[in-house]
Amino acid sequence: MIPTRRSRRRALALLDQLRDERGRQVMLVSHCLLNQNTRYAGGATRPAAITEAVDELVGAGYGLHQLPCPEQRAWGGVLKRHSLGLHHSEGRPLFAVRGVLLGAFAAWTRLKYRRLARQVVRDVVDYRRSGIDVVGIVGIGASPSCGVTTTLDLHASLDVLAACPAAALTRDVMNEQAVLGCRRPGEGMFIQALDRRLARRRIRLDAFEHDLARELRGEPQTLLTSRPARTLGAPPG
Ligand code: SF4
Repeated sequence: MIPTRRSRRRALALLDQLRDERGRQVMLVSHCLLNQNTRYAGGATRPAAITEAVDELVGAGYGLHQLPCPEQRAWGGVLKRHSLGLHHSEGRPLFAVRGVLLGAFAAWTRLKYRRLARQVVRDVVDYRRSGIDVVGIVGIGASPSCGVTTTLDLHASLDVLAACPAAALTRDVMNEQAVLGCRRPGEGMFIQALDRRLARRRIRLDAFEHDLARELRGEPQTLLTSRPARTLGAPPG
């Protein structure tokens, strides 16, 4: 149900009357910052969460709203089973039609992500109608889904994984060659869907990017000291 202005006023009055300790500021964060278990196989660097990012954001006074892991939802669960079919496929008939398969896979992904983005934007609207500011979003660099300024060239990454024999696939090959070696500028498909949906609702959000390369290499990083990487929801310039 869409709240009317009257019901919104009533909700805000209640929040003021029962004023409590909430900071009324929320940051949307990519799922795997808080739960490394959804990372691609070989990509988790911590048992649970990226604690320094959590500490920084919570220390700045933001409640953390964990976004769904879009690949978990669209690509066959935690291990993203639908994305594994073309691994080690070079030389097999499947490899010859990989372009068509990848096109269909991307179209399916975009459809699913549009639905997910719609739900996320509904949550943003709900926060705002409830007097709580959604200050921004933290995405993950080099992700084909959650990248803000860097994403993954899926074709190139797939070619690395298709050419690599099963026995030779190591964590290093996955991270350095199939992921970091296939980065390109641009936004991931989920961030793109969110960007469009936010623009339709005329909502702008500052977007920050957690640097996956620094995380994988164990280098320190901070999210909030630099300017936001981008603004989502802004009309095309
Ligand atoms: S970057 Fe996005 S899609 Fe990839 S594991 Fe994290 S939340 Fe899931």
